[in-house]
Parts: sequence; C-alpha cells; structure tokens
Amino acid sequence: MSSPTADLNWRQVHHVDSTIVDLHAHPALKISLFDKVFTAPFHAHGAFNPFSFESSFPNLQQGSVDVLLSVIYAPERQIVTQEAPVLKTLRYLRPGLWRKVFEGSYFDVANHMLDDLERAAAAAADPATGRPQVQVVRSRAELDALLAQGNNRPIAMIHCLEGAHSLNRGPTTTTEQLLASLEHFHRRGVAYITLAHFFENEVVHPCFPWPEDIQKLNFFRSERDVTAGLKPAGRDVIERMIELGMLIDLSHCTPPARAHIYDIVGQRAPLLMTHVGAYSLNPDPYNPQDWELRKIADSGGMVGVIFMPYWLTPHAGKRGLNAIVQTLRHFVDVAGIEHVGIGTDFDGFIDPPDDLPDAAHLERLTQRLLIEHFTPQQIAQIWGGNALRVLRQGWGR
Ligand SMILES: [Zn+2]
Repeated sequence: MSSPTADLNWRQVHHVDSTIVDLHAHPALKISLFDKVFTAPFHAHGAFNPFSFESSFPNLQQGSVDVLLSVIYAPERQIVTQEAPVLKTLRYLRPGLWRKVFEGSYFDVANHMLDDLERAAAAAADPATGRPQVQVVRSRAELDALLAQGNNRPIAMIHCLEGAHSLNRGPTTTTEQLLASLEHFHRRGVAYITLAHFFENEVVHPCFPWPEDIQKLNFFRSERDVTAGLKPAGRDVIERMIELGMLIDLSHCTPPARAHIYDIVGQRAPLLMTHVGAYSLNPDPYNPQDWELRKIADSGGMVGVIFMPYWLTPHAGKRGLNAIVQTLRHFVDVAGIEHVGIGTDFDGFIDPPDDLPDAAHLERLTQRLLIEHFTPQQIAQIWGGNALRVLRQGWGR
C-alpha cells in the first residue's frame, strides 16, 4: 500500500500516465439530436441540464481521456407513445428532429447517428495542422495501432449501441434480420451492444430506468416487469455476438435475464456491465448483486461504475464522488481489481454529480483514489488497463 502524498503534481502525473477509458458515454445524442458541435467548450453547472455536453471534445481532452466507448441510442418510440405524450409536440416544434428520430427503422436511425458521429470526429481535426484529434477505431488492431502512437495521439472513439431494438429493420423483423443487423454493425466497428434499454425489445426485458426526481414530475409513469427475462431470439443474438466477437453489456437487463445470460455465456466471452452501481450499496434491480459481480469476473469481463448518484446510493444528493469511490471499493472487494472500470454515462441525459460534473474533471477521481490508498497500478487498471484487456480479449475474432 503506497502512502498518499500532498504533492499536487504527483497526483496529476498518475492521472495522465493512466490510459483513461470511459466505457459508456453518449456524445452522439447531443451531436445528433441537438446539433451540438463536438469541439465547442461546455462548462457544467449544478442544475440538471438536458442540453449540457459533458463529453465534448474539449472536456475529453482536458480529462486526458484516451479511449471513449461512444454509445449510440436510437430513441425508443414508446417514450412518446406510452410515457410522455407531451413530447408529441416535437413533431411541430422540431420537425427535422422528429423525422430523423421517429421515421424510418431503428436500424436506419442508429446508422444515421453513427454517420453523424463519424462526421463530428473528422471535423475535430486540429485547425492549425489538420491532424486528426479524434479517430474512430473499428477493431482492436486499429485501437492498438493508435495507442502505439505515443503522446499527442488522437482520442480513440469506439462505436457501441445501447438497446438491441437498433437491430430492428421494420415492423416484421425476423431473427435472421436481427442477426444480419448484428453483422452489419460488427463490420461498422461496433464493439459492444447493451442488449436492453428503456423498453421491451426483440431480445430482452429491461429494468425501470427513470430517476426518482424525474418520476416526481409525473412525466414518465409506466412500470416494468422485472420478472420477465431473455426472449427466444435473445439466445440467437447472444450466440452470434460470441461468434463475431461483439461484447455483451448486461446493463438495463432484468435480473432474470442477466441470470440466464450468465448461464448461456459462462466463460466463453467476457461479459460487461458498463454503467451501474452495486446492489449491496443501493438495492435496485438495475444494479448487480455480489454473486453477479463474481460471475462477470469469472467470464473475464468487467463492471463499470456509473457517475450518477441516483444509481449509486439511496437518497442521493447533488455530490457523488464519495459514492463513486465507495462503489469502486465494493466492486474491487467482490469482483477483484482486474474486473473494475469506469462507465460515466455522460450525456445520457443523466444528472452528473456536482463534484464530478463532466469529463474535464476526471482527475478528481484519481486524486480521491490516491488518498484512499489505491496504488498507482490499481488506479491505472481501473481507469483503463482492465478495459483494454477486455477489448483485446473479446472484441473481434
Ligand atoms: Zn444506459
């Protein structure tokens, strides 16, 4: 166990020396839905702001992020049809957005959002030199080649999908079409799919997703059946993902679906829960129980702590760094240091903690881990070493 030091530079060195990997963030939502400019600075303030841009390029750069697993979410139409009919006004208020998001198949919407993100990454080139500052990498070989470039290399961006509904090409999608969509997204470089999201899809049932303060607005009101699990097509999708080398993210799946998937996958592929808290600290069906943390570790996979106090601790307040550290400590104690990482969920319309409001402030977590007696080597594992190992082990065949 190393001793903490009061030397500020020493702390900074340990942050910058780690390869920083965020397992789960959503810059694409802000770029695709709100036409946010990736390179525009955004400074977070305390109040929840759906138009914030926590994972903007300047914030990622300031936080020394090396690899961003950038997650595409094609908004599910039940948000408008079932839960918040008031959003139907978007058809008239933002007709362009409405057409983009609510017309065409989820498969098409997800592909358009991937196109938007790739354009944004290309446009983030250094204005003075023209050198790329963000580069989409589509395989572990491309990732390793980029990381080998040394300092001043571009940020690596890796495509991921949230919600298997994005495999859906229309009202009569068959299992064969879902599998063809998987192969398409694998060729586009998608590293993992979070199988569930807000609503039941062709593959699996989800947990209840909305934070309490949003529920209090009486805005989102439906319930979820957390006793429902994996669907028959889900098994085929999982088998094909293992064959292709697409990682499986169990975040948002119901507990019975997760239990079923641990049995199906066993140790054949590293499993992920990219953006969660710990059930032992905050007993919500969304969070993995301790036996699940051990199953994920047994698969060679990993669990990422989310930066949203609501999932980490009951009666969450505005600050969250304490709960993030406490959750990391629990994950390490139960799953082992090799199986723990960070999945901020920045820009996923979350309310990040006031003491860690955006990617520019990530060094604050390194500072806290140092004074909590995590060693520099453990901090490097949590920040990115474990994620790189899982990507090299499970992405592609
Ligand atoms: Zn999510």
